[in-house]
Formats: sequence, C-alpha cells, structure tokens
Amino acid sequence: MSAPLRYLLSDDEMPTTWYNLVADLPEPPPPALHPGTLEPAGPDDFAPLFPMELIMQEVTTDRYVDIPGEVLDVYRLWRATPLHRARRLEAALGTPARIYYKYEGTSPAGSHKPNTAVPQAYYNAAAGVRKLTTETGAGQWGTALAFACQMFGLECEVWQVRASYDQKPYRRAMMQAFGATVHPSPSEVTEYGRSLLAADPDNPGSLGIAISEAVEVAAQDPEIRYALGSVLNHVLMHQTVIGEEALLQMAKAGDTPDLIIGCTGGGSNFAGLSFPFIREKLAGRMSPVVRAVEPAACPSLTRGVYAYDFGDTAGTTPLMKMHTLGHDFIPDPIHAGGLRYHGMSPLISHVYELGLIEAEAINQTDCFAAGVQFARTEGIVPAPEPTHALAATIAEALACRETGEEKVILTALCGHGMLDMAAYDRYFEGGMVDYEYPAEQVAAALSRIPQVPA
Ligand SMILES: *Cc1c(COP(=O)(O)O)cnc(C)c1O
Repeated sequence: MSAPLRYLLSDDEMPTTWYNLVADLPEPPPPALHPGTLEPAGPDDFAPLFPMELIMQEVTTDRYVDIPGEVLDVYRLWRATPLHRARRLEAALGTPARIYYKYEGTSPAGSHKPNTAVPQAYYNAAAGVRKLTTETGAGQWGTALAFACQMFGLECEVWQVRASYDQKPYRRAMMQAFGATVHPSPSEVTEYGRSLLAADPDNPGSLGIAISEAVEVAAQDPEIRYALGSVLNHVLMHQTVIGEEALLQMAKAGDTPDLIIGCTGGGSNFAGLSFPFIREKLAGRMSPVVRAVEPAACPSLTRGVYAYDFGDTAGTTPLMKMHTLGHDFIPDPIHAGGLRYHGMSPLISHVYELGLIEAEAINQTDCFAAGVQFARTEGIVPAPEPTHALAATIAEALACRETGEEKVILTALCGHGMLDMAAYDRYFEGGMVDYEYPAEQVAAALSRIPQVPA
C-alpha cells in the first residue's frame, strides 16, 4: 500500500469537549477592565452584548467545557476535518522535514470560523435572542455566522469593511445565500457610521469601525446580541476542536510535532490548533516550538506594545490587555483581510509574554509565492491568511534541507482561497505590493491608547 496522505477520524472519535488553556497556565491572564472605572469588568459589563453562557465561558477556569449535543450535530456536517501529510510539497522542496497540515477549508464557510459561529448561535438562540450582529473583513466570519444563524433560526446582520464589500461581491452573496443582511461599513445605519461618512464619504472602513457599528446596534435592543469571530477567550476555546482532533490524528500518523505554525489575525485558528499541544507541552508529554506568523503590514505581536486598549475603533468595548498597534490604527489594504486587526487576542498576548510561543512577521508577496507553490503541489488554493503560515513552513523545511534535520512541522491550513482569486490575480499580473512597516501611523495610534496605571 502506498504512503498515507490523509488521516481521518470517525464520528465516534470526535472530541466532545473544548479545552481551556487558562486552567493550565502558571499565571492567569490580566482581566478586562471597565473603560470608565478601570476596575475589572464583571459579567454585567458584557451582558448587553453576549448571552450569560458565553460570558461564563469567557471567564471560566475549568479545564474542559462539554460541547452541547446540538452543536456536535452541526459540527458533524464537516468535522472531523482531515489532517494531511504534504508529501508532494516535501518532495518539491527536497526536504527531510515531515510536513502536516490540518485543513479547515472543508467547512460550509470554507474556513475554521464555523467552529465558534455554531456554538455562539446555539447559546444565543437558547437565551431567546432574535438577531445577531457582527463585523466582517474579507467575509469569512460573516459567512460563518450567517450559516450558523440559519442552523438555529436566528436573524443575522453583518457590517462588512467597505473596501472588502466593494472588492469581494461573492462573499457578500454567500452571506446573503445563508440569509444574512449585509451593510458596507461605515454605514448610514448607525450613528458612528454616519459620523464617519459625514467626515469622509469615501472612508474605506476597518475591522475596528465595523465592530463599533455592530456593537452599537446590539447594545440598543435586548433581543439583539453581538458575536465576535476571534480575539476573545470563548472563541479561542471553541476553536480547540482543531487541535484536539490533530492530536489524535498525529498519533495515527505516528509523529509528534517539533514545530507548530499558524497565522494570526485575532489569533483564533492559531490558538485552536496549538493550545491542546501547549497543554501537552506543559504536562511534559511533548516539546513543540509554537510560532505565530503575522503580516509585516500589521505586526501586533512582533511590533506592537503590550498594553490595555480598546477592541474597537470608537473606543466602546471593555479594555483588554493585549499586543496592540493602537485601536485607531488602520492597516494598509493587504489581501489577507482576516489578518488586518490592530490587536491580538489577550490570551495569546499573555501566552507570548509567558514565553510559551514565538512570533514572526512576513510580507504578502512572499506569502503568495508560498501559496502558489502549495497549490501546485498539494492541490489546494489556500486563503491569503494561511499563506503566511505556509511561507514560514516552507522556509523551515528548506532550512532542514541544509541541516538534514527530519523536523516534524504541523501547520494550520485554516481556509481555502476560492473566493480570494482576485488577490491571486493581482499577484500573477505583478501588481501586488509589499507595504513598509507604517512606523509613523503606529506611533501616532499608540499615542492615543488609554492611559491605564499599572
Ligand atoms: C478570520 C480568518 C483568519 C484570521 O483570524 P484568526 O482569529 O487569527 O484565526 C485567518 N484565516 C482565515 C481563513 C480566516 O477566515
């Protein structure tokens, strides 16, 4: 029999709990703060936005949380996702490294995002909520939430960053196919959006602005709640199904990772794959190096400051201690829309400060070169975001060719790029540019983050 290319799990082998890394950390992460009092934010501060079950998951120190049966029933539409061994990529690189990738592009939205959209819709529906609002950049999160809302009979209203709304009509149509209402952001629908459009009718929008609009609408109506697709603890926890499955699949492959690589926007796919492995590392059962890869144009971990800042541009969310470029920093329009967020998940920021992970930043043209090489060897066109992880993976595998090291590399292929072909088109016609690190804009934005006494 020829060498296996994929490792699958049966329905019986699927994980039935989410994993909470907070339970195993040597120090708890710093709490979110109320922006007015600067006191730790309590459940009531989040209650206008989220149902209590999710707020409790946000602050729990339990190691495992049961996945409800209704959520597992939806997960089973596409989970478990396959773990692939990238044998053709390895051969093309001439590397002794063994490369594995966990592929989340088989989901209804084509990315890892439904792993949290489905439980978020479930808990909101169970709490009697009628409608969820949210933001989306490239459209992956909006698509995932639109799908999840359909599964549980909720309405869904999405603010999509204007630049993407204009450039990516197919993502918008996909959200509409799943029943969502979609607005370009900034929009005329909210007070904040109207104020921005009055100042600049051509405002291209940003994730932070779209969050402010979705939050504004949810905060005004008790039947409407808000859903966030990354950054928060409960979102990262929902994504750990990726890593729990990958642990079982790596065991089937008979390999243990030496290096785990994922791309980071807000950090959820990276956390989803790596946190269960970090648990194993903290327990002394394996010792992988874990690396986050971010865009050079929006490098919150490698170039941001670790400070309390707002999660949105208008400055309405609780303050979170995180690596940030400043809440009103608007990154250059790189094609990996999902990685254009000014901050990093507070939990990942804390794990980085504890020295449990490392980080690097890569330019987008290098990432697309890696994406094309991956497509030509493995037969999957990756989304622009995970090409960052692939570029780092390929660089490592090439280094192994020099040293002869048989390193086992595991990476997160968190989505396919079949609705991102305009970006590939740009790359092929030679029109894709790299952006210098915007030192001046970041310095200006950092001068406006709130001053929180230590
Ligand atoms: C949203 C998204 C990202 C970025 O979000 P994370 O929370 O950092 O995972 C990365 N890749 C894809 C395919 C996405 O849809």
